[in-house]
Amino acid sequence: MLKKILYLIGLILILSLLFWGFKKTNLNSFIDIVESRTFDLRQTVMINANAKKVNDDIVIVAIDDASYEYILDNYGEWPLTRDIYAQMIEYLEQQQPKIIAFDLMFVKSLKSKPNADKALVEAMKKYPNVYTAMNFDNQPEELRKPVKLPDTLAIQVENHSDDINFDDITFSNCRAILSDILNSTSNVGIINVSRADDGILRKMPMFARYQNKFYPHLGLKVGLDYLKTVEGQDIKSYVVDKNSNLILGDRKVYLDKDGSAILNWYGPSGTYTHIPMYKLIKKIKGEPTDLNYSFKNKIIYFGTTAASLFDIKTVPAGKIYPGVEVQATYVNNLIDNNFITKAGKHVTVIVSIILALITALLVMQISSAIIASTSTVAIYMAYVIFSYYAMKLSNIWIELIYPLLAVILAFITSLIVKYLIKSRDFEQQYKLATTDGLTDLYNHRYFQDQMKMNVEHSKRYETNFSLIIIDIDFFKKFNDTYGHQSGDAVLRQVAQILKRNVRATDVVCRYGGEEMSIILPNAGKDEAITTAEKICTIVSQKIFKLNNDKETHVTISLGVSTYPFDGETPSELIEAADKRLYNAKNNGRNQVGKN
Ligand code: GH3
Ligand code: MG
Ligand code: MG
Repeated sequence: MLKKILYLIGLILILSLLFWGFKKTNLNSFIDIVESRTFDLRQTVMINANAKKVNDDIVIVAIDDASYEYILDNYGEWPLTRDIYAQMIEYLEQQQPKIIAFDLMFVKSLKSKPNADKALVEAMKKYPNVYTAMNFDNQPEELRKPVKLPDTLAIQVENHSDDINFDDITFSNCRAILSDILNSTSNVGIINVSRADDGILRKMPMFARYQNKFYPHLGLKVGLDYLKTVEGQDIKSYVVDKNSNLILGDRKVYLDKDGSAILNWYGPSGTYTHIPMYKLIKKIKGEPTDLNYSFKNKIIYFGTTAASLFDIKTVPAGKIYPGVEVQATYVNNLIDNNFITKAGKHVTVIVSIILALITALLVMQISSAIIASTSTVAIYMAYVIFSYYAMKLSNIWIELIYPLLAVILAFITSLIVKYLIKSRDFEQQYKLATTDGLTDLYNHRYFQDQMKMNVEHSKRYETNFSLIIIDIDFFKKFNDTYGHQSGDAVLRQVAQILKRNVRATDVVCRYGGEEMSIILPNAGKDEAITTAEKICTIVSQKIFKLNNDKETHVTISLGVSTYPFDGETPSELIEAADKRLYNAKNNGRNQVGKN
């Protein structure tokens, strides 16, 4: 029991060491990627189970393949002249949408037409619910000089979390959009994304750092503006608490270590209502179209879904996922308050230790290895199911891989420890069953087994083996004179003498009472008699120490028999040796008996 407790404590120590070791090495990032894949799997299962519904207030005006073709046919090469966007804004605003957001960047280009650009700027000035995008990058200064952004775009971010490091969302350059837009509205948000090491987009920054200032994400601006109109919350400050939560009024958004929020996905690409942009253009041009969608109170996201316009991402919800749907998912997470929260490292450590302890106890207590392993698998599967429901019901991501490693480690070490304990128990049992407690010689049963084995062995290989039977002389009298305790001491010392004076392969047994026997494999008659006489002499010369410090001499009588000359079965051989022992007694004791 004590050993088991010591083992369990050891297991916890090994686990802690392992966690610490992984944290220090690259294995940590490898495990993070595998962990992320389990996140993707949970998300996929949730999507297949229709666990979460998209917010119907979000609609996507998609520049899909059909719209791209329509624009090529009617307006020439991409990008589309900006006055068309201005006209679409005018048309949509008639229907009173909540927000119009462009996941498009109106950059200055050779194709820019000043009047068309101006029309767009005017429309954006006129309607305060129109938003557009901008992107940070790290292009070298010699390629493009970083622009200075108006102060009105920046926000104040206060970070109290030690876990968050904003380096990954800090940028040195910026792709400038039309300066007229930047100077006339603050409804500009960045659209940078955070991709993981494996190329999959699971997270989105809430803001990014540029020239030592923070700038909000387009999704954050759109989402918060929507919440302002719906819930009346006007959020001006951006504080990250010590638990890595960005506090937005009564909402908390968990930020991962790079300062990004982890997205919760609602469905595969196409889950949001898509309106092909060409239909909207047809509408404003008065051309026939079946578009009769009501944009009232909607968040309208403009973006490209056409494969030829290259804004395709890989996300947990699909390999080919348009950027605009990622942006819509982001806003959806924000307004429905279901971003993913990652359980802290301490939760992982505690869960791992608990699962490891349960596994260890199961393996130790259950004798069948098959039942122990199936129960271990069952326990872990239960944990996997629990992790799924934690995500489905509470948007919490609890880790699966470290706990799995802990369970495997606990399983293997427990199995090893269990079998070590078992084999030691077996050894002890075996020793108890074959040895004599007083003299530590082999017992009578073992003697009989060895006799049989030696007969068989010698028969098969046509060799000899010998048996010596030993009896202490006048032992009854010895006991009467010195007491049984001293008798026992003599028995032990005679046993020691026998053991020390035979070969390692010889088997010394306590035959019974004060009689002992030695089996000498492969020993012929002469060799056995020589050994017997040597022992006889040694015993007779030995000074035996008794209890109460007395000393005395003891003698023994011996009988020898040899297979196959004196018998071909154990009992014949024992009888023959006994007979010679009897002769030795009759001839005056302290000798090896002759025929
Ligand atoms: P002999 O020379 O003819 O062998 O005389 P003996 O007295 O030794 O006669 P026997 O072999 O018949 O006597 C056996 C005695 O050994 C009887 C018993 O008191 C003693 N004895 C047997 N087993 C033990 C034991 O485990 N401890 C002690 N102290 N004495 C034992
Ligand atoms: Mg006897
Ligand atoms: Mg005797």
